[in-house]
Amino acid sequence: MPELPEVETIRRGLEKHSRGRSVAQAHVDGSRMFRHNPHGSADVVDLAVSRQIEGIGRRGKYMWLEFVGTEQVLVVHLGMSGKVLADSGLHTAPNKHEHLRLELDDRTTLRFVDPRTFGHLSVSRKERDIPVLIDHIAPDPFEKSFDPAQVAQKMHSSARPIKIMLLDQELVSGIGNIYADEALFRARIPGYMRGMELALEDIENIVISAREVMGEAIAVGGTSFDALYVDAQGNPGYFARSLLAYGRIGQDCLRCGTPIERMVIGGRSHFYCRACQTKPVH
Ligand SMILES: [Zn+2]
Repeated sequence: MPELPEVETIRRGLEKHSRGRSVAQAHVDGSRMFRHNPHGSADVVDLAVSRQIEGIGRRGKYMWLEFVGTEQVLVVHLGMSGKVLADSGLHTAPNKHEHLRLELDDRTTLRFVDPRTFGHLSVSRKERDIPVLIDHIAPDPFEKSFDPAQVAQKMHSSARPIKIMLLDQELVSGIGNIYADEALFRARIPGYMRGMELALEDIENIVISAREVMGEAIAVGGTSFDALYVDAQGNPGYFARSLLAYGRIGQDCLRCGTPIERMVIGGRSHFYCRACQTKPVH
């Protein structure tokens, strides 16, 4: 599932190829990708056609296309398997799992592809810069309004495992399984520890670690859109080399040499080092 760095990589690529361009034509299908709209895909066509794209916004794992002269936006959620592809030059044949195709006035084509259709394409209205559809989602660590101390305070008052809270998009958005584990590894805290068992500074450190690791991932993923293609994982092979915990079961911890273990917390995998991710001593 694309997490913040993958969505941001796609957002940057999309913006580069579409900002300032007008939508000449929109082609849609009858899939469930449009299920949040009262009139299904017709709402997307009504919004987009003949409009100029002003920019692409993002919060957490959601992004949205903004258009000149309207507060209505097109929210894009990639779900498990979604991707957005930009082709320059000639308009070519539809992709097999393409649900929306926007043809721009400079012959760029934006394709919204999702084989499993867990994602969605939804028209919403912006209020205070955030689409109403997703205004329950908390700020992500790269937003100006993001306050690590405030987030830490909320997590500190909870009995839930820290790993699960990092995935809670209403506490902090954008973090998924991969970056949660990487943040916990960096902060040397095991994911099963409960918020109330941790000091505020420990939690704040984890949240700041999440921002750091996602920033590094964005820096690597950001180069991939030059090929006009970003896959659902936002170029996972590239950052995969830099992962220190996630997916490394049985491999030596790069910090202490102990094999990385996997446990399940609240139904989610957690990769960690038993030796150097331990209950902090204060
Ligand atoms: Zn270790």
